Amino acid sequence: MPDELPILFDFPTNHKLPPKGQPTARDLPTVPLLNTVLFPHMLVPLFVSRDQAIAAVEEAMASERLVLAVAQRDPDQEIVSFNDLYEVGVEATIQRVLRMPDGTTSVVVQGQRRVRLLEQTQSRPGLRLRAVPIEVEEERTLAVEAMMRAVLSLFEKVVRLSRTLPDDSYIMAMNINEPGWLADLIASTLPLDVAHRQEILETLDHEERLRRLSIMLSQELDVLELENRIHNQVQKEVDRSQREFFLREQMKAIQRELGQFDPLQCELAQLRERITESGMPEHALARALEEIERLEMIPLVAPEHSVIRTYIDWLLDLPWNELTLDNADLRQAGRILDYNHYGLPKVKERILEFIAVRQLAGPKHKSPILCFVGPPGVGKTSLGRSIAEALNRKFVRLSLGGVHDEAEIRGHRRTYIGAMPGRIIQMMKQAKSLNPVFMLDEVDKLGSDFRGDPAAALLEVLDPEQNDSFTDHYLDIPYDLSQVLFLTTANLLDPIPDALLDRMEVIEFPGYIEEEKLQIAKKFLINKQFEASGLEAGTLRFSEAALRQLIRTYTYEAGVRNLEREIGAICRKTALRIAEYRPFARLVNPALLRKYLGVPRYSHGLAEEQDEIGVATGMAWTSNGGDVMAVEVTLMEGKGSLTLTGQLGDVMQESAQAALSYARANAKHLGLDSNRFEKIDIHIHVPEGAVPKDGPSAGITIATALISALTGRKVRREVAMTGEITLRGRVLPVGGVKEKILGAYRAGISTVILPKRNDPDIAEIPAHVKHKLAFIYAEQMDQVLAEALFPVSPGKKRATPPKAKPENSVEQPNLASR
Ligand code: ADP
Repeated sequence: MPDELPILFDFPTNHKLPPKGQPTARDLPTVPLLNTVLFPHMLVPLFVSRDQAIAAVEEAMASERLVLAVAQRDPDQEIVSFNDLYEVGVEATIQRVLRMPDGTTSVVVQGQRRVRLLEQTQSRPGLRLRAVPIEVEEERTLAVEAMMRAVLSLFEKVVRLSRTLPDDSYIMAMNINEPGWLADLIASTLPLDVAHRQEILETLDHEERLRRLSIMLSQELDVLELENRIHNQVQKEVDRSQREFFLREQMKAIQRELGQFDPLQCELAQLRERITESGMPEHALARALEEIERLEMIPLVAPEHSVIRTYIDWLLDLPWNELTLDNADLRQAGRILDYNHYGLPKVKERILEFIAVRQLAGPKHKSPILCFVGPPGVGKTSLGRSIAEALNRKFVRLSLGGVHDEAEIRGHRRTYIGAMPGRIIQMMKQAKSLNPVFMLDEVDKLGSDFRGDPAAALLEVLDPEQNDSFTDHYLDIPYDLSQVLFLTTANLLDPIPDALLDRMEVIEFPGYIEEEKLQIAKKFLINKQFEASGLEAGTLRFSEAALRQLIRTYTYEAGVRNLEREIGAICRKTALRIAEYRPFARLVNPALLRKYLGVPRYSHGLAEEQDEIGVATGMAWTSNGGDVMAVEVTLMEGKGSLTLTGQLGDVMQESAQAALSYARANAKHLGLDSNRFEKIDIHIHVPEGAVPKDGPSAGITIATALISALTGRKVRREVAMTGEITLRGRVLPVGGVKEKILGAYRAGISTVILPKRNDPDIAEIPAHVKHKLAFIYAEQMDQVLAEALFPVSPGKKRATPPKAKPENSVEQPNLASR
């Protein structure tokens, strides 16, 4: 069976050209072609296997060796007749016949000329047909010439792009000068289907044949180009990855030759070494090595890589076994505390005791956490720093103000993007040692909301029973905080969560009185600020009057932070003058203060200018220290209503109610008409109206002002008081007595009324203040009224002499002293 076969591109030498010029029909044996078309001039081997075709070949061999080779329309047809064939075929000479071992016959035929089939003359054993040669005049017009060139150039491109056509095929085509032949050659070379080839065969006009071929060539070219593009893309991809692979392998080989490793391996090896040498405890070591193993699996460019890398860095940066050696010399520790801080004897003593106990009992001793409570600027932080210095430990400080989120203490799990360890672990990294002094500032400002309870996390940090294995969410392995010396600070005691307060021993920093501030300024702050502004020691001298004025009117605080700031401002102004070569004052006096700092900013509450009805002086505690505060009561005709103004809190309002109830209940005893209460409205006001006030300690002051207004007895202007009142007129103790007394002293008060049970607080008052004040200890409201109010008629002589003289008097009878 003749099959599609490659065309042989050699020219036969021994073919007999058929007689030309006689287009007479001839009857010849016919070989039907399957899947191929034979063209004139082409030398092609045909594999013949069907009996009909073999018989035809044998008949031809027996006579002129001429056959008709015609393409079969339907290749599945076994027995072929005239109608199964295309109408145009080729007359061909048989060059050679070879019997193959598999029983087929290979017949090499060469096409001679186109023939048109006319009729069938025999079907068996071999098919015979009558056909007439088709003669065509070859006219070489310019158009044909142009077509030939166009077809050749297209064919060249096709050959160049095609991966199956040999380059020779183009050279062969180039050497053919006949247009029809050229078209036939190219058509038989191209991978065209039978229908297309037959179309070329049947197109007799040369120009038209070339034109049709050129269309087929263009289509072929398009397909090839597309194929090539796709191929190139695929190839590029394959090439790139192969190239990279190749380069990487090469790099590895080079590095091996040079005795190096690849960078990732090199980095991992270094990390591994650092980890093993870091002295991490077992569990951390195991974890770190595990992470390194994970790192090895993950390519450098993957985001996960840097996440793991950061984690390992954290493990490496944390102190695991670095410890500073504690200073065992308590006396030296004491000297360091004294060297940095004025006063605070109780605080210093407690700290030394604390250090001594820790030393004697060893580091595992579960000592309480110290909590420094006091207003800002009283030296809590700087004392913490000194403790670290005295102990020879590192110092770190973490402010808890506004921390709402548990994760800030304990960190975020690593599954969160951008997760970090919590602040405790961050500070430990900063401390670079396992046993720093760790100050937790503002424990009273710790918040708690839906994001969890940071106080609970903090408890775990501070609890000696469990802080040797503190777990940060990010680290995810226990970390030992048991050797850390934790200190906490707070401005106020009340807001500290109870559970936390339980763990702590409170040391109160009461705030400084003027004398102490003066000493602190002279001994510490001035020198510190000289240094901070680059002035030589002794450049300036501060007069005592100037310092007192700074304390009294340029600052209003319990601590010395603003005082230090103002001193700093003066130093900087001086430094500027020195730098500008301008003259500057060497003595800082009150006049210079005005020049440098402007007009004074504060005036403290002062004692009333004269004795008045309905105005009593109370003593208040503020975070800036103690102060005096007037309570005013006015009565109007009305229906017994009570109005309270001056931003009084709930507790203070209740105090006012209690005072009123006391007055009503004791109307008779106080000499009041009990029916009067229904006919008046009472207005109680506490200036300054815009400042919120609260607490029970104004109780007796409100009662005094109220009863003064009701009885018309004047209140002694030099008396100030504090104390809670009960309905039955008992006077209960209050807090902040030291600050209150110092505030009253500064305001020019000479007699202070205190609850009896606050008696012990007086011990803390500096002697020179104590000597200038008279103290009355009251248990009952009666006593308060007796001391604070003039008798009914101011004209009458009082039963008892006035208790106190003005502030400046030399010798003060201390009526209340024990
Ligand atoms: P706090 O932490 O209580 O708010 P700081 O420790 O920051 O206060 O103190 C503010 C400034 O006052 C610091 O420069 C500190 O050295 C100084 N200071 C406070 N108390 C004293 C003191 N008793 N002796 C010397 N300096 C003090």
